[in-house]
Amino acid sequence: MVVNRQQTHTTTSQRFQDQVVLITGGTSGIGATTASLFLAQGAKLFNTDLEERNIKSSLGSKNVDFYKCDVSSPEDCEAAVKACVDIHGRIDILFHNAGILCQPAEVPDQDVALFQKVLLTNLGGLFYLSRAAIPYMRKQGKGSIIATASTSGLSGAMALSPYAASKAGIINLVKTMALDRAKDGIRINAVAPGYTNTPMTAPFAGLPALRDAMLSRIPMGRAAKPEEVGRAVLFLASEDASFTTGHVLPVDGGTSADCSGAP
Ligand code: NAD
Repeated sequence: MVVNRQQTHTTTSQRFQDQVVLITGGTSGIGATTASLFLAQGAKLFNTDLEERNIKSSLGSKNVDFYKCDVSSPEDCEAAVKACVDIHGRIDILFHNAGILCQPAEVPDQDVALFQKVLLTNLGGLFYLSRAAIPYMRKQGKGSIIATASTSGLSGAMALSPYAASKAGIINLVKTMALDRAKDGIRINAVAPGYTNTPMTAPFAGLPALRDAMLSRIPMGRAAKPEEVGRAVLFLASEDASFTTGHVLPVDGGTSADCSGAP
């Protein structure tokens, strides 16, 4: 079979032409990088975060709107989705990526207020945003929702109970919503990154023993680059994944495949 390489490349580079993408936590780390990948492939970006952080100038595109949204607030999430649809007339892709880590502490020493904050931000945000976006996607007859989970949601994470529980919750919410909405042509998936070099993990640079212990558990021997996570998000959002829903895609250098501690 003769492959027209020029045509294949053009199709891929414009995969999201004029599609409207709402991203949360889109001004830093994985979110900002994924935003730039979507833009490079033709998307119209409705970027949201707690603060703007010069994202419009750094992305340098006319196809970028910024909207302030605290994802732990149901009202903010509803307003952000509505503003996106008011401006663009639709919402094709929702990428809920905003998230916070917590200070390490074992149960029962974890703080109640921190537990609630992490749950409402990481997991609550996905529920509030999906609740707001799905009615529009149903009217459109299609849509794609992707959430950033974590390898901490696939197994436990010592001393990080709020974070691990929130990411496990994301995984099961993704699967359940995918089942609920499959009949509407709305696909709902998650990525589960392992250790990724972003501002969230930057403090580990000052804790070399912890960082090296984490790196030693990654079969590929290094942390992910944010664009490696972003490219997995774009795959799940795209027509290349047109029959994929309720899936959790690890982007972890093999970590979640490793069960070598067991007999
Ligand atoms: P980051 O700190 O660079 O980005 C997180 C973003 O979320 C920031 O822009 C922040 O402002 C935003 N945010 C935090 N609370 C918010 C709120 N209440 N409302 C709206 N936005 C809020 O870190 P990152 O590593 O790019 O994290 C992105 C996602 O990836 C998070 O969900 C994180 O849990 C997940 N993740 C990261 C790693 C890693 O090793 N970096 C691994 C697995 C999963």
